[in-house]
Amino acid sequence: MAGTTFTQSTRASTKPAPEAGIAWQEAEPGSGAAVGDPNWPSISVVVPTYQRRDVVCEAVRTLGRADYPGAIELIIVIDGSTDGTADALAAIACPFPIRVIVQQNAGASAARNRGAAEAANDVILFLDDDMMCDPNLLREHGRNYCDGADAVIGETPVDLGSPAGFLAESVARWTASTRVQGPLSPFDIFTGQLSVRRSLFDELGGFDTALTSGSAFGSEDADFGVRLLAAHDVRHNASAISFQRYVVKPREYRNRAERAVAAHVQFARKHPYLARDLFERRGIGRPVVRWLYRPLSRIPVFPSLIAGLAVRTAEAGLRTSLRSNRALARFFSGACSLAYWTALRKSGWFPFSNKVLVLCYHAIRDEADPLLARFSVPSKRFEQQLNDLADRGFTFITPTQFKTFIDSDAPLPRRPVLLTFDDGYAELIDLAREILHPRKIEGIAFIVTGAASNEWDQAYGARPIDLMSHEQLKELGALGIEVASHSRTHGEMQLMDQSEQEAEAAGSIHDLARGGLPRPRFFAYPYGATNRGARAAVSRAGYLAAFGLKQSRMQRGSDRFDLPRVIILAKDRGWKFRAKTAAPSLFNLFVRARRSLGSMFG
Ligand SMILES: [Zn+2]
Repeated sequence: MAGTTFTQSTRASTKPAPEAGIAWQEAEPGSGAAVGDPNWPSISVVVPTYQRRDVVCEAVRTLGRADYPGAIELIIVIDGSTDGTADALAAIACPFPIRVIVQQNAGASAARNRGAAEAANDVILFLDDDMMCDPNLLREHGRNYCDGADAVIGETPVDLGSPAGFLAESVARWTASTRVQGPLSPFDIFTGQLSVRRSLFDELGGFDTALTSGSAFGSEDADFGVRLLAAHDVRHNASAISFQRYVVKPREYRNRAERAVAAHVQFARKHPYLARDLFERRGIGRPVVRWLYRPLSRIPVFPSLIAGLAVRTAEAGLRTSLRSNRALARFFSGACSLAYWTALRKSGWFPFSNKVLVLCYHAIRDEADPLLARFSVPSKRFEQQLNDLADRGFTFITPTQFKTFIDSDAPLPRRPVLLTFDDGYAELIDLAREILHPRKIEGIAFIVTGAASNEWDQAYGARPIDLMSHEQLKELGALGIEVASHSRTHGEMQLMDQSEQEAEAAGSIHDLARGGLPRPRFFAYPYGATNRGARAAVSRAGYLAAFGLKQSRMQRGSDRFDLPRVIILAKDRGWKFRAKTAAPSLFNLFVRARRSLGSMFG
């Protein structure tokens, strides 16, 4: 036992006060299993279930046969089922306490979190409602905890009692082909059979319910896996076995393929550095995706017609002796893949983009000062511009998505656009609070770290305007606007000598650190003006990338320390805004041509 002793939790065997929606079922008198051997961790088994009365009852019966010396409690969360699951469960005799929680349908993540919140034992073992347990399952998990594990995953082969036919057979092949080998990745973490120390589960904040909200399905496991694998001892135990009774019907299988898209898109946004891996596991690099599904997913209506036909063919086929027919299986899985890629295209994530539009705004306010008005966009018009971009299919990306695109080739959705704001005027905090944060739009604010007001403009006669305080900058960061550097004094860096350039680049990092702010990742040259020395100074100071003001979209191969950014001025309204954002280089060419024609004939 390696000297580890697990204290028996007193709550585990105590009956709590009756509570709405929770029923307790007594252990059989004299069974004695509710009090366990303290050398083994006590385990709370949490099973969320939805509309699967017979299967979950069968799963509970297999759990009742578990050979485990430690204490066990079973918590079943009925997630809005209307098929009499609660009554059926009440009729099952079990050697350990069963708790049944009934809640309105809230998705698997919410149901698991609810069950975990009620769990009282050392370890929580999450099992899906279709898992038929091997008698040694709990012992295998328990063994790893005696050995110091923080979390354990096992094996989930398809149960031989699954309904016959190509669906269960192909899932069985898929499960066998994706068996864990080598170091664990977040994508190996499968909540169908996953145990974790209860204290760690609480510390990690449980499953992200946003990933499975609405119609989204899946990816909460990998998301939890990211946090789990970051700094904890996660074991794969090939002897911890539960058999998945695969009862999913063709229609549900097809729906899941489409519902996975909403979860994948959220996951890709939340974990940009895993996005490529996620879509590669779905086969985005395969020739069939590129040459067949990609063109077909463009055709309106066709994919959903095919999917509907495939579901009906599969339903009919599964009732006949053709139920294992390979052609039927291929047609069905192909139609489901097409449904997935079509839904992904609709979401804007297929195919990926390789160019980013970075917009540079200054003040967002009504400005009377003639010198400043040129750079100010009134907030109403700014909102219209956001709507206009969204309507035209642009996707607002986060600074971290942008960073991962530069760093590690992370995929980006269609027409990606990153918002940036220069100079750090005080009203930006209201803009973030009232307009950007409610729309879940993130961005970057480039701050002049050594000034309290716009001294550089005042030198030309502009009125003074306050810049944000360190406290305001912290709040800005919390609202999703990353604080970055716009130098210390807003001087023209290409006119400076090396030591002055160093002071601007490295000095502003110190200024922000002194204010208790995180180290800035990005830099923007004042006036977009830079030269080789300025770029070197910024690179040496440890910035990840720096922006100039070349009027074009950023793409692979752009100079990382002079990234292009498209400036939006007061005069860029209506068709000008649309043209400038649709084709910035072309627009720039047009403006220059007009200007030179004007000087030729004017
Ligand atoms: Zn500036």
